[in-house]
Amino acid sequence: MTRRLFFLIAVACLAGPLAGQDNTERIVNERDSRSHDFDLLHQRIELRDFDWDSLGFSGRVTTTLRALRPGFDSVVLDAGELLRVDAVSTAGGKTPLRWVQVRDTLVVFLDRVRAIGDTVGLAVEYRGRVRNGRGLTFIEADSLPPYRPRQIWSQGEAMDNHLWFPTYDFPNDKATWEMAVTVPAGFTAVSNGILVTDRTSRDGRRTMRWHQDRPASTYLVSLVVAPLVRLVDRWRGRPVEYYVYREDSARARALFDVTPDMIEVFSRLTGVDYPWPRYAQTTVADFFGGMENVGATTLVDWIPTRAAYADRPWFRHILIPHELAHQWFGDYVTTANWANMWLNEGFAEFLPGQYWGQRLGAHAMEEYYLDEYEQFMQIDARRRMPLASQGSNNIYPKGALVLRMLQQHLGDERFWAGVKRYLTDHALGVATSDDLRQAFRAATGENLDWFWEQWVYRAGYPRLVASAEWDSLSATLSLRVEQTQRDTLPVDVSGTPFSVPEAFRFPLSVRVGTADEDVTLQVWIDRRVQEVRVPGIVSSPSMVLLDERNEVLKELTFDQPTNWLATQLRRDPNLWNRDWVIAQLAARHESAEARVALAAAANGADYFHTRASAAVALAAFPGDEASRALVTALGDTSAQVRAAAAQALGQRGDVGVISALRTRWAEDSSEAVRAQALLALARLAPGEARALIVEGLASSSYLDVIAEAATQAAIERADTTLLGELDVAAGRVRLAMLALGVFGARGQERALDLLDRHLLSSRATLRGRAVETYRTVVPDSVARVRLGALMPAIRNESTRRQVEELLERSGQ
Ligand SMILES: [Zn+2]
Repeated sequence: MTRRLFFLIAVACLAGPLAGQDNTERIVNERDSRSHDFDLLHQRIELRDFDWDSLGFSGRVTTTLRALRPGFDSVVLDAGELLRVDAVSTAGGKTPLRWVQVRDTLVVFLDRVRAIGDTVGLAVEYRGRVRNGRGLTFIEADSLPPYRPRQIWSQGEAMDNHLWFPTYDFPNDKATWEMAVTVPAGFTAVSNGILVTDRTSRDGRRTMRWHQDRPASTYLVSLVVAPLVRLVDRWRGRPVEYYVYREDSARARALFDVTPDMIEVFSRLTGVDYPWPRYAQTTVADFFGGMENVGATTLVDWIPTRAAYADRPWFRHILIPHELAHQWFGDYVTTANWANMWLNEGFAEFLPGQYWGQRLGAHAMEEYYLDEYEQFMQIDARRRMPLASQGSNNIYPKGALVLRMLQQHLGDERFWAGVKRYLTDHALGVATSDDLRQAFRAATGENLDWFWEQWVYRAGYPRLVASAEWDSLSATLSLRVEQTQRDTLPVDVSGTPFSVPEAFRFPLSVRVGTADEDVTLQVWIDRRVQEVRVPGIVSSPSMVLLDERNEVLKELTFDQPTNWLATQLRRDPNLWNRDWVIAQLAARHESAEARVALAAAANGADYFHTRASAAVALAAFPGDEASRALVTALGDTSAQVRAAAAQALGQRGDVGVISALRTRWAEDSSEAVRAQALLALARLAPGEARALIVEGLASSSYLDVIAEAATQAAIERADTTLLGELDVAAGRVRLAMLALGVFGARGQERALDLLDRHLLSSRATLRGRAVETYRTVVPDSVARVRLGALMPAIRNESTRRQVEELLERSGQ
């Protein structure tokens, strides 16, 4: 839903060119790229003897590089300070070499001085160790849900791969590599490229050698070590692999089988065939989401159950296509430095919307970008930053939305021609924001400097305040469009002057509905305040639409009569605009006309997203009519609409709907709907609440959506008789553990006693969640006293460390 924020400011400035032009673009493109004096060519990484207790392993890394300066006498590599180097030699091992380690740097002194262009080879033998979670993550087995086998996974981005092997750890130098890994019996090693050899020794240990033979940035080197099964699909003959725990193998195919079609669609849209010889997706425990390691993506192990597909799981809808898109944007063409990271993330966030648009139609695509828009507005409200800047907070949704705007501005064919040009000009290389601009200029002939200037290098978006007036004598509608965004950004800590344009430049379409026909007009807005006259409006307008295809990223405040809004909600095919209209109508609780329009949309709109939004909006409308529309929505074919209706009913306090909600709780095929029905019933029928919550806490559902709703209901009711059930649920459900902390923070000592028992659990997952609960929910003063007393009883080393860190922090 579009947020409507009011920012009405009197502005004197009426005209003039784009104010406040700065030179951010020149600063950002290459400013943050790292220099070095060699070209990394190839690395052979050999690892063995992984030890879960010490978080250690043995390694030998052979590096080939080319000197880029005369008098090349030493090689400076990035190597974590916990890597204990035992020996360095020339590549064949013949000549030992001197070396020195200074914190995260390894300097190797060559046996003789090399000339510019000479190739150098050197081998480093070392005993490696990591701080768990930095570079490599070691995970112990846990048999209870969420079950996981013992495993290790790597995470390189942004600059953590040097914590487990010596390398050049910055994206602007691409190399090829081999990964030869010896793992315990029963384990598999998954890495990038193609599996070259796979040998098992007599003691059961297995050595797998992977070869990445097309150059890529070293942050994309990856390794997963775990007992995994391999499922295989094909795309044009190339292997498409899914590595999962044996217990997940039955469910994995239903999740991943969309992958070959996504590869096909992305190859067709970009005009560049999938660039790697194989695509693997591997699931691991406690992962933050997904990582697009080249040809071998790593993903969290939340494989949906069959029932979860009714609720369109994020994993399949967003995560899989996002990481796949990175195989072109990020892996094949890579940001030259982290300040241009939106080139990776913006495209990866943009492409899933294109896929679903191809497969499910225009509404599915609009819905995808509408969700990005809502995320963008929330992030921008917290802190406003340009896309191209170091540490920019908004590269995902804003990147996707800016690319979507560009696509609409250029049209599909020219847009994809520009994308193809970018991918071809920088194939297997790196790029900056300006490289993308030049690719579009080369492909389309258009100078898009103005677009980059306002959308890539500067921050913010137009905040439009519009008003309309119809003059029957001249048959003209006069529109006044004012840009009210303010340039109030402080200078960034790095000294970069972020700024917001005084006036954005963009095309604005106007559609005026009348009794006979619609009148349309297209204008360019490029001033702070602009008047637009629409002639030929002979009868009173029935609606006025601005920017009907959403071609500009904006916020619109446009006060209109309710009947205009109702007409638009009925007629406008664009989901994004409909959501905006619903937000306007939702604020008019007293208006029967608004309620009728929303009820009609909730029960009759042609796409589920609009029906769900209208249902949510009806929550605030008093009276039986709104309840009746919501009860009808409870029977919708779409689970999203039923869930929205249950949620809205739970907010209204109308006890007449209880039996309809009971039916949803008892019978619905969607877990999300049952979760919302439980929450609503717990509010509307207090007599049933306790039994419902107990049942909900004990039930299993994908990502615990039902048990979490039951937990939320328990927290809302502050029912301390539920502590025993919450304690049992805390053995499975993350939110239930947090609930113990919430009750503890409200003064329930017993809840904290239960929490402490989990902190002493033999299961690492539970200990971690108990620490998290102390850190996030329990007041520092309480945590300090209790954890201090508990400390002597904590046996596990890593939990001790976590608690010590917490005590240090809370002591400050
Ligand atoms: Zn990404």
